[in-house]
Amino acid sequence: MNYISTRDTNEAKKAVSAAAAIKQGLADDGGLFMPDTIPTVTMEELKALIDLPYEERAAKILGLFLTDYTAEELLADCRAAYAEERFPGGAAPIVSLEGGVHSLELWHGPTCAFKDMALQIMPRLLSRALGKTGEERTAQILVATSGDTGKAALEGYRDVDQIKILVFYPEDGVSRVQKLQMATQEGGNVGVCAIHGNFDDAQTGVKKIFSDGEFAKEMNAQGYFFSSANSINWGRLAPQIVYYISAYCDLVKAGRIALGDVVNVCVPTGNFGNIFAAYIAAKMGLPVGRFICASNANNILTDFLKTGTYDRNREFYKTMSPSMDILISSNLERLLFTVAGPEKTADYMKSLATCGKYTVDAQVKAELDRCFSGYYCSEENTAKTIRETFEKEGYLCDTHTAVGLYCAKAYMADTDDHRPVILASTANPYKFAASVLTALGGQPTDDVAALAELEEKSGVKAPVQLTRVLTLPVRFTETVDADEMPNAVRRFCK
Ligand SMILES: *Cc1c(COP(=O)(O)O)cnc(C)c1O
Repeated sequence: MNYISTRDTNEAKKAVSAAAAIKQGLADDGGLFMPDTIPTVTMEELKALIDLPYEERAAKILGLFLTDYTAEELLADCRAAYAEERFPGGAAPIVSLEGGVHSLELWHGPTCAFKDMALQIMPRLLSRALGKTGEERTAQILVATSGDTGKAALEGYRDVDQIKILVFYPEDGVSRVQKLQMATQEGGNVGVCAIHGNFDDAQTGVKKIFSDGEFAKEMNAQGYFFSSANSINWGRLAPQIVYYISAYCDLVKAGRIALGDVVNVCVPTGNFGNIFAAYIAAKMGLPVGRFICASNANNILTDFLKTGTYDRNREFYKTMSPSMDILISSNLERLLFTVAGPEKTADYMKSLATCGKYTVDAQVKAELDRCFSGYYCSEENTAKTIRETFEKEGYLCDTHTAVGLYCAKAYMADTDDHRPVILASTANPYKFAASVLTALGGQPTDDVAALAELEEKSGVKAPVQLTRVLTLPVRFTETVDADEMPNAVRRFCK
């Protein structure tokens, strides 16, 4: 199987291997890589997955997409990525709630949020891709982070062969827990550097380094090339397809549904990667009826799915579900490509870049209507959902999952579609302990104290992954000016 760009309108498309797509990240024309065909899973094949552990299911499903990786390579990588020591609560367990909603907990990994599901395996796939494409240099990953992605990337890339990772964060732009998580990071190939300034300064600094040809030459001479840990890389999307198929198998195994029953999927959405992975699983043959796209007050996707117009010219809100505070959902481009083809996708993306908006045509709109429903949840309803779910069901959910839960219920109340819902639960409640505690009526002292305060209030234990950073030795203390970032990279690569 080969990979093509979502914007390639040529008759003879430029196709690359999975390894090349993962190494390259973004296509030359600025589009995203997509497989040239979507592989299928039959009911028989689904049935055969039911008795396998997560890592074996993952290796089999990834093998359908990454055809230039051997079954042994994928199994070894999946075993290492999803090992019990990294996912102490299981890779992607399900907790069944009232009303036919099944919470698919994607946050048992090292940083307690769903990004670990992809970032634990993607670096291994990249490391192999370097070998497969004959790359002898070391990949120097640079990340600018406002908090969570940096930590998830550090955990994912730590001690992976032929890769080094350096993360920049704004000194005063992250929470105390986030700062500690990064400053105590373990691993021989990792570096963390604070900068004076805000997130934009960090991001601009990294972008400058990426576009500096002279610096690239200097690094090349020392055996390095720069690479990003971008969320639009196919190597991050493919592992997300796995857990929807795995969740379906687990529901059959638990006797909650019969093989072949149709389920709905609800995903708290930001960049549209997670929900798009569910859509691909359905394209492969997983029986999914409807995709409920859940947004917070930044409800650009709700409006898009309702009207067919995507318009980023709007107010931006900071919410208690910050990982969904996004105005440009990059992975939506992959859905447009799948539904509308490369010509229309290229046009829509051009319009987005120049006018900040585009409107899909009636045919595309009809296809979106057939599969997707968009809902959003206000700040008030997010807090209310956290409180009510805890009081009525004893289930503590984080702010992002609460948005999804509210939207799943709103969809069921609006329609007579009461099929079981797989709800992507994207973060451990302790990841956003202060907001969750406030929703329960508590008053957090600060974000570190909130961990113990939420334990006290809820009786649910905080995950060791978060509490242990409070006691680990601090390894990284350097803070530099933004224009000193290149020198920080030079020192790191010595
Ligand atoms: C990244 C993230 C999301 C959004 O996922 P997308 O794939 O960007 O749509 C939702 N919740 C949490 C906790 C996240 O970290």
